[in-house]
Amino acid sequence: MYKIISGKEVSLAVKERVAEKVREFKAEGIEPCLAVILVGEDPASKVYVNNKKKACEFCGIRSLEYVLPEETTQDELVELIEKLNGDSSVNGILCQLPLPKHIDEKTVLNLIKPEKDVDAFHPENVGHIMIGDFNFLPCTPAGIMEMLKSENISLDSKHCVIIGRSNIVGKPMAMLMLKENATVTVCHSHTANLKEIVKQADVIVAAVGRPRFVTADMVKDGAIIIDVGINRGEDGKLCGDVDFDACCEKSSYITPVPGGVGPMTIATLMQNTITAAEIQNKG
Ligand code: NAD
Repeated sequence: MYKIISGKEVSLAVKERVAEKVREFKAEGIEPCLAVILVGEDPASKVYVNNKKKACEFCGIRSLEYVLPEETTQDELVELIEKLNGDSSVNGILCQLPLPKHIDEKTVLNLIKPEKDVDAFHPENVGHIMIGDFNFLPCTPAGIMEMLKSENISLDSKHCVIIGRSNIVGKPMAMLMLKENATVTVCHSHTANLKEIVKQADVIVAAVGRPRFVTADMVKDGAIIIDVGINRGEDGKLCGDVDFDACCEKSSYITPVPGGVGPMTIATLMQNTITAAEIQNKG
């Protein structure tokens, strides 16, 4: 028998905790505020930005939305970020990725003040995550850790296999799992014998971006499966990187798509906005 870990439910508990903190802030005359910048017309990004706005509303966080046209220049974006960096009423700044090709992502992300970098993408914050001493949680990996915590799952001495080595998911995920005393293997597009490695996993984290990439023959009996992927299947419906129907019976715990890791990522963003407000107001 397997259990589905519902990101919808766990994220609700996190957001309720955040909302309580926001009420405490407001009682002290402080209104936590998140600025979200969206450049261009990417439909998935529009959905994510809208979900972030809704989560802010739920938590009582003031949200500022900057929706800029595709042809926005890098200089114009830099100017906006510098303005938000200098605005003491703005606690967190998030620039939705991907950016249009004519804008250098690295330049933009490095410009956001580390203490307002609620996505934890600035090299200074990435470095803090690397040494396990950080203010801002990497949103998707931290959301996954919260889901595991909600089921009292300890990673101590477990073999965690992460498929994907992106800066956003795979690499920070490895750091958080190491911090919890797991043995971590990170697989990627050049990994040989991927199937054999994944089959050894007590915990599988799939962050590949390919529909139903993880199949039942890659899963050890009783494995915990965390599906990060958000893909459109051939039928046009949202699906993850895991073949859920085939893999669930072999797992002990599994996360669904949608309603799994996605809502947790947004809940962690809310948590980070509160952390930013704390750092900026209370030192
Ligand atoms: P990415 O495209 O930056 O990285 C994909 C990774 O998969 C790369 O490291 C690559 O080496 C690896 N990979 C590709 N093909 C492979 C193969 N055949 N075998 C082994 N590894 C392979 O992706 P990302 O930004 O980490 O996102 C991954 C997925 O997670 C996407 O579907 C994305 O939409 C989703 N995502 C979801 C959330 C969320 O909140 N749920 C957050 C971020 C990303």
